[in-house]
Amino acid sequence: MSKMIIDGQRVDSSDGLVIDVICPSDGQVFTTIPRGTATDVDRAVNAARASLSGAWGKVPAFERGRLLMKLSQAVLDHLDELTDLEARDTGKPMAFARNDITVLARYFEFYGGGADKVHGQTIPFLNDYAVQVVREPLGVTAHILPWNYPAQMLGRSVAPALAMGNAVVVKPAEDACLSIIRVAELALEVGLPAGALNIVTGLGEEAGAALSTHPGINFISFTGSNEVGIHVQQAAAVNAVKCTLELGGKSAHVVFDDANMERAAVAISKGIVANTGQTCTAGSRVLVQRGCYDRFMKALEKEFSKKTAGTPEMDLDCGPLINEAQFKRVNRYIDLGAQEGLKVEIEGRVAEGVPPGGYFVRPMVFSAPRHESRLLTEEIFGPILVTVPFDTEAEAIELANATSYGLMAAVWSENGSRQTRVARGMQAGQVYINSFGAGGGVELPFGGVKHSGHGREKGFIALEEMSTVKTIIQYYG
Ligand code: NAD
Repeated sequence: MSKMIIDGQRVDSSDGLVIDVICPSDGQVFTTIPRGTATDVDRAVNAARASLSGAWGKVPAFERGRLLMKLSQAVLDHLDELTDLEARDTGKPMAFARNDITVLARYFEFYGGGADKVHGQTIPFLNDYAVQVVREPLGVTAHILPWNYPAQMLGRSVAPALAMGNAVVVKPAEDACLSIIRVAELALEVGLPAGALNIVTGLGEEAGAALSTHPGINFISFTGSNEVGIHVQQAAAVNAVKCTLELGGKSAHVVFDDANMERAAVAISKGIVANTGQTCTAGSRVLVQRGCYDRFMKALEKEFSKKTAGTPEMDLDCGPLINEAQFKRVNRYIDLGAQEGLKVEIEGRVAEGVPPGGYFVRPMVFSAPRHESRLLTEEIFGPILVTVPFDTEAEAIELANATSYGLMAAVWSENGSRQTRVARGMQAGQVYINSFGAGGGVELPFGGVKHSGHGREKGFIALEEMSTVKTIIQYYG
């Protein structure tokens, strides 16, 4: 049974209640997590506040960086253990879980290196005046995380916050907390002062709501669904607290007739099946120029039909979906595709021998004659791809932008001018050209436009997001 981390202690929920943790591969309960309450959130926020005026607030920037570097190394030293936890908790194939833990370590390394490199400014002003602009921590930062990449999301959201000297309270998703709790334990072991990093597990409407409305927080970083994100932004407004939202997506690939079809087919297949399609940036729509449609579909079939879902130990292309609700949701979209008259073009498979209670679905490619289907505009969050033809470059840009989301997009073409024109025309926070990856590297600024949210994470820009500016004006005459 896991515990929360509050004020440097491993603790149960204030009322002793727990939530069952279910293994997505077989639907069986294998451990429990505390069902944190508003009282626990209050304790965590108070502990964070106290650490800012106590030990954590006195740690100089370069030492914060060193601590994060040590935590990065501790994560790598526990790679096998953390990989097992992540795979069991989320159903990810072992190799995929291992990669996620490695990326988590990279976040602590990258932001550890950045901690003492955010400089201020001096500004020429009136005679006999000195003006300094200094970067300061925001204070107590709240981080509400989703279940799809728990370890990566922890690193992405929390590492820049700690690097800038904030004290952190994390509310992980109820479906995936185990790696996060373990990393917070490791943080204490490497010397992070008590209260600097607190983890309150629990339900969204209880612990999550209590955190987002708590008057003691100074910032909210929310990653999750649009519905909850809008709710959290409203909660943040009550206390006039800054908030970043990293929400859903319906990312488009645009494949032109001069593209390298094989390269595109490999990346597109991999991109939608990875993490069983439960990726905010999943490239779930493929717009294909009519002149190369058949050629592309042939290349796609060759790649996609091999895609197989299995247990973490089978280490195949993807695992099960996270839970029963997600399993029902994805199957509803598969039924809807049939009702809307979309054609099933390609199917992957579920491996033989998976446990009967697991939430496995077959990866699938639907084709649509026009960009008119709920499967083309709504986030499915499963390994379901929809292809649709287009004729001109202008039409491709219009269709790529024809959803309420704007997280990521990709252009596939060998024509350099077209690559740039289309990339500039797409409404998205990141655009790939002849490549595709889940949100890019740790170094690359990432975030959404339109209903995919606002604010930027990753890259150096996150250090600016996680801090505030103070202008000090001194008269020395
Ligand atoms: P979710 O919105 O259901 O939950 C996210 C978090 O919010 C969880 O910790 C949950 O407990 C909490 N929560 C729920 N209700 C709350 C409330 N009333 N007040 C405060 N907190 C509350 O999302 P999910 O199902 O965990 O994740 C899937 C979604 O996340 C997808 O839409 C996906 O696209 C999105 N996502 C976006 C990014 C990104 O970077 N843009 C990354 C990963 C996931």
